[in-house]
Amino acid sequence: MAILVYIEAINGKIKSSSLELLTAAKKTNQPFSSISIGSDSIDTETLNNYGVTKHIDYKDEKLSKYNPEIFSQVLTEAIKELGAEVILGSSSSLTKDLFPTVAAKISSGFISDGTQLNWDGSRFSVKKPMYAGKCFCIVEFSKSLPQMILMRPNQLPVETSTKVNTEIVSKKLAINDFKTKVIEIVKGASEKLDLTEANIIVSGGRGMQAAENFKLLEDLAKTLGATVGASRAVTDAGWVSHSMQVGQTGKTVAPSLYIACGISGAVQHLAGMSDSKVIVAINKDPEAPIFKKATYGIVGDALEIVPLLNEEFKKILNS
Ligand code: FAD
Repeated sequence: MAILVYIEAINGKIKSSSLELLTAAKKTNQPFSSISIGSDSIDTETLNNYGVTKHIDYKDEKLSKYNPEIFSQVLTEAIKELGAEVILGSSSSLTKDLFPTVAAKISSGFISDGTQLNWDGSRFSVKKPMYAGKCFCIVEFSKSLPQMILMRPNQLPVETSTKVNTEIVSKKLAINDFKTKVIEIVKGASEKLDLTEANIIVSGGRGMQAAENFKLLEDLAKTLGATVGASRAVTDAGWVSHSMQVGQTGKTVAPSLYIACGISGAVQHLAGMSDSKVIVAINKDPEAPIFKKATYGIVGDALEIVPLLNEEFKKILNS
């Protein structure tokens, strides 16, 4: 089975969500390739450490901004050239657009939103949530090839393997005739790590009472090196940006630690964060549904408890 991993990087550093897929590909014991598309040089030393046989490095100034037309053409051509049979990617705003586009172009099967990737020696099956996380299903492809799979980040282990000498094939963009041109990409106001990449998230809901009280969450997040998230109730109220929303219609996250402050735990919110490794809930209502999902629960006023937690964490982390 010829496997191709689509790699995403920030300033050349490969994202840990892509390392998860390199690890999964290596575990199949099949020779596998990877591809990156962008304008930055990628950290190829890392590829050696994850056992990548061959890496296609599409680097061109014209690839500095995501353009669905160009990226899908480049990836389609690479899949055909390499004869790739399974293409693995990690869910991000970019891949959620790119993968289905390419799947349509190459008439491939497509599974999105995977939370578990199983290899039976000849093919992959994928576990994924359904009905906003109320149940899971295991999906596999019929025999047709190629197959495209998007996994949620933070679901698979990251493990280096025996060092290899990855063959790097540098490619320039050979296409010049595009129908679309991306003029500008306007990023969200936050410079912080994106929620989907964060290892710790401090999230606030309507129980934080007012927009200005999110300062308490930002302070705690600063101490913990965390990113701040929110429920839809507060993004709809305009207290914080929509880019911070976690849940069914927001971002899907799976950090090591998720601290939910004044969030009731509606099913649509849980759909976006219930894969978190440890969930701490702070809520003044002992019957709040979030406590059914929480690893640890604190019953009380978040406006009092969050600053206390912050002080305690500061003491521990500075000692
Ligand atoms: P509430 O439900 O009002 O809960 C506030 C909680 O704070 C309560 O449990 C209360 O006991 C507690 N509280 C109050 N004061 C304090 C205090 N001082 N200290 C501690 N606790 C306190 N929601 C999402 O979050 N994400 C989504 O992506 C999303 N998508 C949706 C999609 C659809 C189609 C629909 C219909 C809804 C969606 N929702 C989503 C909305 C969701 O149903 C809930 O309305 C929302 O999650 C509630 O947000 P909340 O928990 O902040 O507010």
